[in-house]
Amino acid sequence: MKLYYSNSTLDNAQVIILGLPYDQTSSFLPGSRYGPEFIRICSENIEDYSPYQDKSLCNVRICDCGDVEFDTKDWVLKARTAVEKYINKKKYLIALGGEHTITLPIIQVLKEKHKDFSLVHFDAHCDLRDEYLEQNICHATVMRRVSDIVGLDNLYQFGIRSGTKEEFHFAKNSYKFDVLKPLSSVINNIKEPIYLSIDVDVLDPGVLPAVSTPEPGGVSYQELIKALLLFKDKKIIGADIVEYNPLAASPYASGSTVAEILRELILIVSSTQ
Ligand code: MN
Ligand code: MN
Repeated sequence: MKLYYSNSTLDNAQVIILGLPYDQTSSFLPGSRYGPEFIRICSENIEDYSPYQDKSLCNVRICDCGDVEFDTKDWVLKARTAVEKYINKKKYLIALGGEHTITLPIIQVLKEKHKDFSLVHFDAHCDLRDEYLEQNICHATVMRRVSDIVGLDNLYQFGIRSGTKEEFHFAKNSYKFDVLKPLSSVINNIKEPIYLSIDVDVLDPGVLPAVSTPEPGGVSYQELIKALLLFKDKKIIGADIVEYNPLAASPYASGSTVAEILRELILIVSSTQ
């Protein structure tokens, strides 16, 4: 396993990277369990320097803690126990999925440490079903379960362009199709601290085809990066990147895109400390 990002011990790290390679409930194309591994491989292809932020990963203390083992039984509970070890007030966790369900155990742990926080969700899909295929915890219900924890008023969604009528009517702070314009108009209303959850299918499948549930009409890479940069002076408590599926299409081009999103996120999270 290539641990390109890792340049620090766990004790000294500012940012912790943790893979959560779970894709048990993927309903269309399973394979996001290989996401963390391919992100690490593709990290070899990218520079540590971000021209968008004029900063380098070399100046951030990062510890890649590897992956939580994939397990089909009681996974959320086991992941929660695993994640608990890595989250504290001085270290910031960036989790790599895996399907979107991986956000839930992280939010469960963060809720124990922070009384109130907002969750900003980039995705093509609402993920607000109460139940899907007889499961109430899965990739299609994860933001509903998360909103049960953080409160619907604290959930902000961007890039959304797919879901049921009920889901679209349920979300109060959902800004639907656009990312940049609505985000820049509400950014100062989003209460800090903030958790960022990035389902990479928010990007157009022409930009990033390697996802488990591709959805046309997505945002460009530049739009996503500009949207993320709006958070660089905000207090961020953690983040995840989910739903990259190297088995679905062009794993290396898509993986390099995801590795760059991870670079930008590491620099954003570390700058808020
Ligand atoms: Mn999602
Ligand atoms: Mn999605």
